[in-house]
Amino acid sequence: MPRGKAIALLSGGLDSLLATRLIIDQGIEVIGLHFITPFFGYHQKGREGEFQNQWRQRHGLEVRILDVSEGFFQILRHPRYGYGKHFNPCIDCKIFLFSQAREWMEKEGADFLISGEVLGQRPMSQRRDTMRIVERESKTEGILLRPLCAKNLKPTQPELSGVVDREKLLGISGRGRRPQIELARKMGIQDYPTPAGGCLLTDPILSQRIRQYFREHPNVEVREILLLLVGRHFRLPGGGHLIIGRKEAENERIQRLAQRGEILLRLRAIPGPLGLIRGPVDEVSLRLAGSILARYSKARGAAEVEVRYGRNPDGGDGILSVAPARDEILDLLRFESFPEVPPSSAGDEGRGFGSVPNGDRKNSGAREDSRFGFAAPGLSGGSLDEGPLGAAREDPH
Ligand code: SF4
Repeated sequence: MPRGKAIALLSGGLDSLLATRLIIDQGIEVIGLHFITPFFGYHQKGREGEFQNQWRQRHGLEVRILDVSEGFFQILRHPRYGYGKHFNPCIDCKIFLFSQAREWMEKEGADFLISGEVLGQRPMSQRRDTMRIVERESKTEGILLRPLCAKNLKPTQPELSGVVDREKLLGISGRGRRPQIELARKMGIQDYPTPAGGCLLTDPILSQRIRQYFREHPNVEVREILLLLVGRHFRLPGGGHLIIGRKEAENERIQRLAQRGEILLRLRAIPGPLGLIRGPVDEVSLRLAGSILARYSKARGAAEVEVRYGRNPDGGDGILSVAPARDEILDLLRFESFPEVPPSSAGDEGRGFGSVPNGDRKNSGAREDSRFGFAAPGLSGGSLDEGPLGAAREDPH
């Protein structure tokens, strides 16, 4: 008979696993909660069963996956305690997740919550003062147990009532990882999970892109965020948004995420990137999109390239002849190059479509625009926005 019941917040990393094990080893029943949003953990969406089986088999733990994207978007837009170095509202994020976990705790008839936090490990949300704020605001004072650093903190209710033996908890603090790795070794945990990419809101490039998008769009959907996380992004004149895959996997993802009626572009005769235009599009922006797409293909040195385009899912009959775009055009239109729009003046442009040129689309009139210089290939190489996903990120939660 278990001595009590707890809900553990599992970020997917080592610390929350260790914290959970410390409590399970005291004979307490634990259920894991794994929160996901497009910014962390979303790769588990659609493979929940596999994820749960892994945890059951490896650690004997029942885990629930909770998609909290909608609520998270609200706090991301207006975090009471502000952002960290990037677009990461860590204190509000914790308040939100612990509040959700508390509700689950009550529903499950559990006695307390477990978190893998370590005092002093994170500059923003794992300081003594911010930990107290989080407990107060999420109404988890006295029921939120942090087994890895409990001895540095005031005893919680399960410790005071004797459900949890405080002597068997730890007093880890600071940013070092050695105590956790040593503990994992002692517990025989070898194949511990990594946080699988961490939180994208701490990625310097992606977070900037996401922040701009939130500022400019009062309502944001999960699909839009998923699109922001792949490929190269450009703004088109008139408010359109062009996304170009950087590799086959991204092309497939963009294709999967494209909505009916949105415009897809591909090179006509050679394999290469897939482009997607969202929002208003006219002939100038369509040709510009084609020229940017051509720039990121093997034909980027050609004087002229044929690009096929059409509305998803049935289109693809239109053909454009364009010169690959020059680097300065790319720099000018890159999504992140635009000055940020203050939140108060944000509109919801970029949704719904304007007109796509009709009639004979094949080689349709090459309208020149001096700003975008269609006619001149003028390629000079240069550094491009390769791989923002490779940047270092903070662990989720
Ligand atoms: S870094 Fe962690 S705490 Fe901060 S916003 Fe991301 S998931 Fe939340």
